[in-house]
Amino acid sequence: MKRIFIVLLLCACGCGTFAQGTATLRLIDKEGWTAYLQGTMPLVISVPHGGTVNLSEISDRSCEGAVTVTDSYTKELALEMADYLQKFNGQSPYLIICNLIRKDIDQNRDMPEATCGDSRMEAPWESFHNQIDEAISEAIAQFGYCIYIDLHGHGHPEQRLELGYMLSDKELKEIYLTRQSPAKQHSLSNYIRASNGKVELYDLLFGPQAFGTLMANEGFPSVPSAQDPFPQEGQKFFNGGYNTRRYTASDRPQVIGWQIESNMKGVRDKTGRPVFAAAFAKVISQYLAQVAATKK
Ligand SMILES: [Zn+2]
Repeated sequence: MKRIFIVLLLCACGCGTFAQGTATLRLIDKEGWTAYLQGTMPLVISVPHGGTVNLSEISDRSCEGAVTVTDSYTKELALEMADYLQKFNGQSPYLIICNLIRKDIDQNRDMPEATCGDSRMEAPWESFHNQIDEAISEAIAQFGYCIYIDLHGHGHPEQRLELGYMLSDKELKEIYLTRQSPAKQHSLSNYIRASNGKVELYDLLFGPQAFGTLMANEGFPSVPSAQDPFPQEGQKFFNGGYNTRRYTASDRPQVIGWQIESNMKGVRDKTGRPVFAAAFAKVISQYLAQVAATKK
């Protein structure tokens, strides 16, 4: 009963679509598990943990290691980001949003942990990930490359963006101190490889044009960045999860990206969202121009 009510609510603005701001999302499955915004630029943003739809027939995930905390307002934040991109440069990112609550499914884990073995949740998992795949493939077909961002929210005491490039706090410190890149795949590897020596990892993390540096310049402290290169001893830090690893792996050479773990105050809260979205639209547009320039 609960599910029927919520699906009807999602469909209230017309069969299979609903609007918030200027962005019109499409529900890509009849159950309303996954919402999608068709993009017009090489930017794909997924929101795995912002859903609130709790399926009454599914018990809360409780397998070993299961995390069930919702990343509050990340869905609203992503929609605001799409709105500002539309206003800023007239283009829309691709958005893939999981409407289901994390207690039912974790869309930033591989299938066994995501579903905790409940086979009824395999279809929602596939719906979400197939849609990311489709968006990435479409963006690559159109633009030749894309930036993939997995958007989250953290509850750590430091009020800053944590940028996950699949590099740990220790690895970031090492790169900062030595300028040496680690011999491993991270989420910017494909960018560096394709640039034929034009870009270096150190600059992408700590340079004046690094995403974190540009966001910090706009008033959104970020780690890593020129201003805050690596987390200090004892500080918590998320360095990227399943989605970031999977969608920026070496078998997708045209994709680069990172995980954004956003803080609540001034970013995800009501007054912060439009300010953050405006800064993000400006910075990501600059960043995309940089990526495009290295391809010439
Ligand atoms: Zn999360």
